[in-house]
Amino acid sequence: MSDRRTALVTGANKGIGFAIAEGLGAAGFQVAVGARDDARREVAVERLRAAGVDAFGVALDVTTDDSPAAAARSIEQETGRLDVLVNNAGIAGRIEDDAQDPTTLDLDVVRTVLETNVLGVVRVTNAMLPLLQRAESPRIVNISSDMGSLTLRTGPILAAYAPSKTMLNALTVQYARRLAETKVIINAACPGYVATDFTGHDAPRTPAEGAAIAVRLATLPDDGPRGGFFNEDGPIPW
Ligand code: NDP
Repeated sequence: MSDRRTALVTGANKGIGFAIAEGLGAAGFQVAVGARDDARREVAVERLRAAGVDAFGVALDVTTDDSPAAAARSIEQETGRLDVLVNNAGIAGRIEDDAQDPTTLDLDVVRTVLETNVLGVVRVTNAMLPLLQRAESPRIVNISSDMGSLTLRTGPILAAYAPSKTMLNALTVQYARRLAETKVIINAACPGYVATDFTGHDAPRTPAEGAAIAVRLATLPDDGPRGGFFNEDGPIPW
């Protein structure tokens, strides 16, 4: 087993996930680059290595049951344990028309969004927990959004995406309760409004700025908070 701490980031081939991989690499982690597309994953691994990050690729599609299990086996072979899991992979679903108006909601959009943003997190987390429990200071960070905050967002917005993040926040609390007597610390993070493909690159924050809170929660001390929802200014009501 390597002495180096290892972090898996899902959806790490681009956007905020790639920036989290860079940030964790700079913090000294070996980074497992979780991505579903072979070519995109390899390009990301090469870019990270060129930036000095100790990175390796892990095939990971969060929407199938087999892929997270296979990814766990491959990480176990590579490192024997996992110190950090960042559940970053996420989708907005179709947003061009009224598909996300709750009064005309397209149920296929809801299914697709929940499959990735919620069920995907459960699949990956449960597949990785045995490896995380072998680490000294295991951390899980779920990349959520303040769009899921029923306190902050008072109008109907993206009726599939926003509640998917509300549920992710609720799941984070449930995991934290279940893992309260263990070393595994789990929290949710909001990266802010970040310029990526997700936002059509029309947003004020850089991926590195969005990644900072995830890196911070991934490196919390052993007495750090559990089951919270944070941006870089502190806890967010949801
Ligand atoms: P991008 O669209 O740039 O990146 C999304 C990443 O998720 C890609 O790597 C994508 O892979 C991956 N992904 C999607 N579906 C799957 C899947 N089934 N299996 C594995 N990987 C998958 O988005 P962002 O970087 O902006 O978003 C990252 C996270 O941050 C998301 O959870 C999003 O909800 C959240 N967020 C983003 C905000 C923003 O302003 N950008 C604001 C608040 C939250 P591929 O390239 O193969 O499609």
